[in-house]
Amino acid sequence: MRLGLAANQLHHAHADAALFRWLRACEGGIRELGLGLHAVGRTFDAIQRTGFLAGYDELRGYPYGREGGLMKLVAEVVGLDGGRVLDGAIYLIDPVDPSSIFPEAVALKRQCVIHGKPFISTVASARDWIEMERIHAGLAPDRGADAFHALETQTLALIAHDAMKPQMLAYAAEHFDVLARFAHRVATGTTGQRLNELAWSRGWPSDLPWVERYQSGPMGGDAQIADLVLERRCQRAIFFEDPHVARQHEADIQLLERAVTTRTDTAVCMTSPKVAARWAEAAQQRTRR
Ligand code: PGA
Repeated sequence: MRLGLAANQLHHAHADAALFRWLRACEGGIRELGLGLHAVGRTFDAIQRTGFLAGYDELRGYPYGREGGLMKLVAEVVGLDGGRVLDGAIYLIDPVDPSSIFPEAVALKRQCVIHGKPFISTVASARDWIEMERIHAGLAPDRGADAFHALETQTLALIAHDAMKPQMLAYAAEHFDVLARFAHRVATGTTGQRLNELAWSRGWPSDLPWVERYQSGPMGGDAQIADLVLERRCQRAIFFEDPHVARQHEADIQLLERAVTTRTDTAVCMTSPKVAARWAEAAQQRTRR
């Protein structure tokens, strides 16, 4: 498996920056998995400078941003001949760094979503992803990742755009028990209504909502849920986006995703149904170990 890797400047600027908090927590897991990391210019340089992943052959350097390093990652997420294919990307975003909204940054996310590959934008998401892959590889749980699996103390946000609502309902039906472990669930208006109907049809008490509904997305539900994230009252978002249509509330969607990146150490966001399913299976397995 190979992931593209980039971090906005703040996130590799000092020894305790986000990139290094991730590497400190996950270097062992990266090596256990033999994970390929294809890192763009300054991110690669910063890793080399600190000595993380020393002697690790699966770490590769790419051109600097100004020479198209991030653009190359996008093309490889889509896939190129000659085996130039990435399985997803880690892009640690600093929401006030203007380069985080450059077209190549937006395209990186979009092509990950389109191709069902992980787009990982926070330290928490990156730690959670490594642990998920470790569990699938049959490795013993890393106790350092326990906090990401304390679902009973957390709030989960569930959001799906119209074309993705059937997939969200199928996902929730298949992984109902894992999602039901969360202390609390929230959703945008229409998604929430459909999810509640699903839960009631499965015997959830009819006088109790399974998810707390906020406004519908276009009416500001994403912004309301973003505030929960900013207030540290929501730790995980599963957001099935439809990347193929123009969305009237695009700004709100971006706002929510950027809110998640402001809570980089504690907030996880998953945008691909495939990744969300893989995570739910790992969460289930991990509790049995
Ligand atoms: P909805 O909103 O669940 O109310 O459809 C989702 C969205 O469009 O963000």
